Amino acid sequence: SWGSLSDKNVYDWSSEEEEPDKQARPIQVLLVKDDHTFELDEAALSRILLSEEVRDREVVAVSVAGAFRKGKSFLMDFMLRYMYNHASEKWLGDSDEPLTGFSWRGGSERETTGIQIWSEVFLVDKPDGRKVAVLLMDTQGTFDSQSTLRDSATVFALSTMISSMQVYNISQNVQEDDLQHLQLFTEYGRLAMEETFLKPFQSMIFLVRDWSFPYEFPYGQEGGMKFLEKRLKISENQHEELQNVRKHIHSCFTNISCFLMPHPGLKVATNPHFDGRIKEIDGDFLNNLRVLVPWLLSPHNIDVKEINGSKITCRGLLEYFKAYIKIYQG
Ligand code: GDP
Ligand code: MG
Repeated sequence: SWGSLSDKNVYDWSSEEEEPDKQARPIQVLLVKDDHTFELDEAALSRILLSEEVRDREVVAVSVAGAFRKGKSFLMDFMLRYMYNHASEKWLGDSDEPLTGFSWRGGSERETTGIQIWSEVFLVDKPDGRKVAVLLMDTQGTFDSQSTLRDSATVFALSTMISSMQVYNISQNVQEDDLQHLQLFTEYGRLAMEETFLKPFQSMIFLVRDWSFPYEFPYGQEGGMKFLEKRLKISENQHEELQNVRKHIHSCFTNISCFLMPHPGLKVATNPHFDGRIKEIDGDFLNNLRVLVPWLLSPHNIDVKEINGSKITCRGLLEYFKAYIKIYQG
């Protein structure tokens, strides 16, 4: 029964709440099993989306997607910090505070392909006075063999269909196969949706980790946009296949942007005892994190989920989630 939990999983910026719920945690709502079937934990998802304070609120669904071990959870924990600190100037926290939230340490735990949602939904006032519900999703795939590529495509497609902001977390560069994957994944999604004259998806944010050519394109969003423009450019003398990938990506998203992140330093990347405290993270990385997270999540910048041009509530999102998963379950 989800009734008993239903009032606990909301964190309202405008109330006097100080402490996050200690039991807040990532909830595996979609699981890809060993036999490549999909399992939706409808009860868990309902518990999150149908709680009284959020179910009729318009929803902002922020997803971070990509392969394993590329720093997604690490980033999401900083997103949680920002959300729990109400976007205050010191949201990044003390230099000695270990990082918690989505589990991110490179441990021995078996990785699962699927979608996790943070159990607490954040209620945030947009500058126009509307209170919206913000949902954080961690989405991972394996991308390593034909059989799992199909799983990853489905997971990525679903998370793109469900989210209003999809962060595509990639390592070092935007390679041709990153774009091909994106084409495959979004084609999977588009096929499952009703045809409309509108673009099927909202914001796609390419987040390039460990960017190492800042002298060519500087870190951050502006450098990212210039870099991406070049990468996604369609030209006459390009091979048809390359042109098609680019046309497809342009046709799928209302907004496409890019952010170039520096390497976080060797302690983060290689020390097994590193627990996320910011004093051990490179200054360049932290400076860019201070820009990236508010750029994604500030009340001004978050986008409400729309489907076919209509704004969606948490309750509506649950219905779409259930309908979409049925398509892939065949
Ligand atoms: P996920 O599987 O994508 O969620 O990756 P994790 O967040 O669990 O991180 C995997 C490993 O990469 C951890 O050891 C992190 O400390 C490390 N890491 C986190 N962010 C970065 C980054 O931007 N660059 C590099 N090179 N490593 C990172
Ligand atoms: Mg992770």
